[in-house]
Amino acid sequence: MKILVTGGAGYIGSITAAELLAAGHQVVVLDNLYQGHAAAVPPEATFIQADLADRTALAALFAAHPDIDGIMHFASYTLVGESMEQPLLYLRDNLVNAANLLEYAVAAGVRRFILSSTANLFDEPERMPIDEHERIVPGSPYGESKFFIERMLHWFERIYGLRYACLRYFNACGDTPGRGEDHDPETHLIPLVLQVALGQRPHITVFGNDYATHDGTCVRDYIHVVDLAQAHILAMESLDQLGTRKYNLGNGNGYSVLEVIEMCRKVTGHPIPYVIGPRRPGDPATLIASSTSIRQELGWQPRFGDLETIIRSAWEWHQAHPQGYHED
Ligand code: UDP
Repeated sequence: MKILVTGGAGYIGSITAAELLAAGHQVVVLDNLYQGHAAAVPPEATFIQADLADRTALAALFAAHPDIDGIMHFASYTLVGESMEQPLLYLRDNLVNAANLLEYAVAAGVRRFILSSTANLFDEPERMPIDEHERIVPGSPYGESKFFIERMLHWFERIYGLRYACLRYFNACGDTPGRGEDHDPETHLIPLVLQVALGQRPHITVFGNDYATHDGTCVRDYIHVVDLAQAHILAMESLDQLGTRKYNLGNGNGYSVLEVIEMCRKVTGHPIPYVIGPRRPGDPATLIASSTSIRQELGWQPRFGDLETIIRSAWEWHQAHPQGYHED
């Protein structure tokens, strides 16, 4: 298939683009390089530097590539904390950009769409682990923006017959030898902790230790980015047969912030000092996925399921690229 990957210069998008190519698909990447890196785009992909707000660029993209079989939509603002400070980046830009993409996609006859969605749909889960029947209570404007896009897709299926899958990831992490996590500014726990191990930060700040968890720090379900990428490919390849689906994606294991720091100490051999800071607005205490549905229906199996393997893969990339893509 020929797949358009929006955000394909970003962390998850670029690694998914590489996995798609390895699986024999053709890839067109669209990215505005606001957060992404040109060096992350696989050289075998066609790269179009453009913004989803630029409707002329979208028209040109679909005119140049009228044979796109499916879209994987990663490009968006993605930070819970930022969305609590700048809600319109999320409640306006994420929605307008997705609407633009969908408008041109259906006009071009695209039949398949995979949405990069989020565990931030589940701010007040009634059951843990969280399955697809959990009620949706977005935890922030970020989560709300993804929920709105899921609803847009619902109507685009009913009206235009677009088949789609929403993949609600828990905490994407880990790296591959060629591509890794490099945000500016970095806000994610594992790369920040590894920056302490690299001597680039004096300590890590733990955002709150008074949550209702076993050690008081937030518990999250960390999933390797390659396992996420494989889930996207399986979902895309199964849409014709199985139709629209929504899947929660994690390993089903929860680790606290302190446990992640401890594992990073083991992997890096660095003492990794930490200080306790205030809670970060928008953070629920515990998020653990039930991925039973995607395991049963698509045969998805995480290959890098344990935290040590995940952190080792990240440590290898960060040691090889201490300044991220900037040095490449
Ligand atoms: N976290 C932290 N200190 C940091 C960054 C993150 O304590 O400097 C915590 C954060 O509160 C959350 C967990 O680590 O409980 C994972 O955060 P991250 O930003 O990596 O992912 P998110 O859960 O927001 O998707």
